Amino acid sequence: MRELANVTSAQPVPTVGFVGLGIMGAPMARNLVRAGYRVVGHDVSPARVRQLVAEGGWAADSVAAATDAEFVITMLPDSPQVEEVVLGPDGVLEHAKPGLVLIDMSTIRPQTSVRVARQAADRGVRAIDAPVSGGEKGAIDGTLSIMVGGATEDVEAARPVLDMLGRTVVHVGPSGAGQTVKAANQLVVGGTYALVAEAIVLLEASGVDAGPALDVLAGGLAGSRILELKRASMVAREFAPGFRIDLHHKDMGIAQDAARAADVALPVTALVAQLVAAARAQGHGALDHSALLLVAETLSGRNHR
Ligand code: NAD
Repeated sequence: MRELANVTSAQPVPTVGFVGLGIMGAPMARNLVRAGYRVVGHDVSPARVRQLVAEGGWAADSVAAATDAEFVITMLPDSPQVEEVVLGPDGVLEHAKPGLVLIDMSTIRPQTSVRVARQAADRGVRAIDAPVSGGEKGAIDGTLSIMVGGATEDVEAARPVLDMLGRTVVHVGPSGAGQTVKAANQLVVGGTYALVAEAIVLLEASGVDAGPALDVLAGGLAGSRILELKRASMVAREFAPGFRIDLHHKDMGIAQDAARAADVALPVTALVAQLVAAARAQGHGALDHSALLLVAETLSGRNHR
C-alpha cells in the first residue's frame, strides 16, 4: 500500500472528511486510513461509520463534524445528495474553513459540479469533480481511474489524496469536465454490454456455444475489458452487482442531459438508455448492469428466468 509522502513526525497528519461510505466510499476511506491520513467519516447509515472506525478511522455524527478537515471527499449516489450535503443547510460549505479542498467523487450531472465549484469558490473552498471508473474492485485495490475537473492549482492540491485512491489520475479540464468524461465512459460501457448481450442471444439461438464463441471475440478486434471480465458470468447468467442497473440508469440520464447541453445528437446512447430503462422496468434495477442480457433475451422471447 502506498503511504503518505513528505509527512514527517514534526508535521500534523492531514485530516480527510469522508461523506458517503457505501460500496465505493468504504474501501476508499480504508485506503486513506492505511496511507496514514486521519479519516473522519460520515454516512446516514451509522453501521457504515462504525465499520470505518473499526478500520482505524474516526466517526463524524454530522456533515459539519466531517468538514473540520483539510480535505473533504464526497462519494454519494447522485446529484440531489451532493447538493444536500455540500450546498444544503448545515452542509459542507456552511461549515468549511477557507482553503478547504472539496473532492466530489460521486457520478453526478456536470452542471451540478459547475454550480458546486462556483458556490464553493464564493466561500473560499476549492472544489473539484473527480468521478471514478474501476468499480468496487478498483476501489478496494486503490487502482481506480479518476477523471478530474477543476482549476489546475486545486487539482494539484488534491493530487496526493487522489494518488492513494487511483492508478490513473488525469486532469481533463475545468469544473464539470470530469463528469463529462465519466458520462462518455458510461455510454461506452452501456453500449458494449448491450452488444455483447445481443451477441449471446444470436449465438445461443443459432445453436452455437456462447462460451468458446466469446473466447474468440475477446481475442480479436471485438475484444474489450467487458468481454475479458464479464463474458463468463454473463453466459452463466450470474448478475450479482457489481454496478447496479439503477446506477447505470442514472448515468445514462446524465449522458443524455450532457448531450442536450452540448447540442449534439447521440442516437445510440439514446437507444442504450432505453434498454437500461427497460431492465429497470422489468425489475432488474438491483442486478449488475450485465443484466442487460435479460432485456435482449426478452425482446426475442427467449427469457427463461
Ligand atoms: P452506495 O449507494 O453503495 O453508497 C452511497 C453511500 O452514501 C451510502 O452508504 C449512503 O448511505 C450514503 N448517503 C446517501 N445519502 C447521504 C447523505 N445525505 N449523507 C451522508 N451519506 C449519505 O453507492 P456506491 O456504489 O458507493 O456509488 C457511489 C457513487 O459512485 C455513485 O455516484 C456511483 O454512480 C459511483 N460509482 C459507483 C461504482 C460502483 O461500481 N459501485 C463505480 C464507479 C462509480
